Amino acid sequence: MTCKPQGLQALFGGTFDPIHYGHLRPVEALAKQVGLQRVILLPNHVPPHRPQPQASPMQRLEMVQLAVQNNPLFTVDTRELQKSTPSYTLETLSELREELGSTQPLAFIIGQDSLLSINTWYGWEQLLEKCHLLVCARPGYSTHFSNPQMQLWLSQHQTDNPRQLSLQAKGLIFIADTPLVNISATEIRQKLSSGDSCNDLIPHAVLEYIQAHHLYQE
Ligand code: ATP
Repeated sequence: MTCKPQGLQALFGGTFDPIHYGHLRPVEALAKQVGLQRVILLPNHVPPHRPQPQASPMQRLEMVQLAVQNNPLFTVDTRELQKSTPSYTLETLSELREELGSTQPLAFIIGQDSLLSINTWYGWEQLLEKCHLLVCARPGYSTHFSNPQMQLWLSQHQTDNPRQLSLQAKGLIFIADTPLVNISATEIRQKLSSGDSCNDLIPHAVLEYIQAHHLYQE
């Protein structure tokens, strides 16, 4: 029996402290470019030795849910937040790969800044054994590694043909031509703490939640 290729779905992990249009707009454009059927937002548990998010895990999750509540492209996966300890991305991808089986295409979305530091991720060499990587443009970053070995790794896996992503289950890197959206969560937290407007930077429902819960005021 031959297995017909099914739609391409992708995970998008992040701290989302808070989620903003710099996360959502490039990913929506990416979904159109490569024909993503579903984007699964995956809020992370942040390890204790890393700078802690200002919002609690539950608040970050609720903001993510509000941001995409009327957008059928997105779903939210709470598996990392439900665990009592932080999980590595590789572990989560391994779990999903088990659930999907070996032939279904799966991708993981990152911004260019994350691509350039990917060799600091636990087990990064094995990521492409589980999924494709889809890279969104981010202002101030490129896709050029200063380390020649990393540049070689990129060139060995990169494809310019988005159709390949649905035909293969894993193993490819696609650098997407997404709009540059100059927004960061750090900038949003700073603006909110100084009382500046963030109306154009985050979805309205998320802004209302932030105000109702008095988040990011210090
Ligand atoms: P901070 O601004 O505090 O560094 P962040 O928004 O970069 O926060 P995360 O929420 O963890 O941090 O980001 C999740 C993912 O979204 C990462 O892969 C990151 O590269 C990507 N990302 C975040 N902002 C943008 C943006 N403006 N354009 C493209 N990708 C982005």
